[in-house]
Amino acid sequence: MSSPRVALMMLMVSLCAPLSANEIEDEERLPAASEDRAPTLPTSPAEPATPVAAPPEPPAAGEPARSDASPAAPGAEPDSATAEPAPVAPLALLGRTVQPGSFDTLHWTPDQSFASIATPVPVLVAHGNKPGPTLCLTAAVHGDELNGIEMVRRLMYELEPGNLAGTVIGVPIVNLDGFRNGSRYLSDRRDLNRYFPGHKNGSAAGRVAYSLFHNIVSHCDYLVDLHTGSQKRINQPQLRADLENPDVVAFAKNFGGMTVLHSPPASGMLRDAAVKKGVIAVTMEAGGPNRLEEDAVRYGTQALDTLLENLKMRKASRFWGAPQPVFYESDWVRASQGGILLSEVQLNDKVKKGQILGTVTDPISNTGSAIIAPYDGRILGMAVNQVVHAGFATHRIGEEKSAEEVQAKAEQAQEDKATTQDGSEPAPPASAPEDPDAPTETE
Ligand SMILES: [Zn+2]
Repeated sequence: MSSPRVALMMLMVSLCAPLSANEIEDEERLPAASEDRAPTLPTSPAEPATPVAAPPEPPAAGEPARSDASPAAPGAEPDSATAEPAPVAPLALLGRTVQPGSFDTLHWTPDQSFASIATPVPVLVAHGNKPGPTLCLTAAVHGDELNGIEMVRRLMYELEPGNLAGTVIGVPIVNLDGFRNGSRYLSDRRDLNRYFPGHKNGSAAGRVAYSLFHNIVSHCDYLVDLHTGSQKRINQPQLRADLENPDVVAFAKNFGGMTVLHSPPASGMLRDAAVKKGVIAVTMEAGGPNRLEEDAVRYGTQALDTLLENLKMRKASRFWGAPQPVFYESDWVRASQGGILLSEVQLNDKVKKGQILGTVTDPISNTGSAIIAPYDGRILGMAVNQVVHAGFATHRIGEEKSAEEVQAKAEQAQEDKATTQDGSEPAPPASAPEDPDAPTETE
């Protein structure tokens, strides 16, 4: 426990204790919608150093049983105040039982190495004393993506299970091996987020995926998988969601003003596997790997707070008022030659078709080329300045879509799907790539 990262995390813990409700009211409300409101990161003074709140008392032992609470539909009306809420059953998870109204730390052990040296992965559970949905948060599926770890900590330790409708399950560091090594990958160099839902008898990555999926994700009604940009790329905080799925569209509207990027499902990704199993899921991207970014963490945590409020799980201590998300479709622009990349734009900039986004220059021959925006849009992700090879994805430009367009497209996709299912067999899903060097510009 002596690595610089551990020291950093401990420092973060001491610096980032939850704020009191009043401090949050003062500091953390985001501005209401304005013409050019798309996600500028809020900035505010550092949080005061105060002791970290301890979790509530661990539960007493009890009879294992799953909560039969049904999920609230996204945007559903709250229950009538006169209705007597159904009693909540204890939650059976990972071989333990969590009583209603309590917080507990459980452990998940993926079948990765031989049992004697297996390292259990901590799983934080807040089991409310009122009926409601089960929301799961996973972070560091890629071990070098740190912002989500801090978001899970902030959210979980400000929950009050005695005043929570439903259950929140947080896995702060899914890929513990990668986290320890400062690496995106599992110890076998595979990308875990290409192997879901996994296979009991598959590759090492497939087994880890299977174990997480069946022991935890299958218990969730909703899942938010927290990521950052990969491999020296940074992302404006955004949700990645399949906007051809109406349930996912409805869910994605619950995060306040956070940008939503249409991202078609790709085989092997956790959110895709979850949606196929009936767990409504999105990915949240914020910032870049191998760093802790206060603004990105704060922005993401606020979006999660807003989600809990909108799912009627609790009254948020800070919330995002009226703004609705802005929807985008997007594409990467790639370098046409190798060399030194120097960008001329920043995250969240609006760009015009034909605008120079940056240059790539061969440092030996002094020959270079410009990277040109192919259409009007906004920079939602970009590579940091670095040496790149030809074909390297440098700038992700989002093209705004109206909520109506998104809704219409989702409905059309559902109709198309119904037609396909009536007429012919749907195409089999592509198998997960075995290549550990598969493209990494996706989540
Ligand atoms: Zn990731």
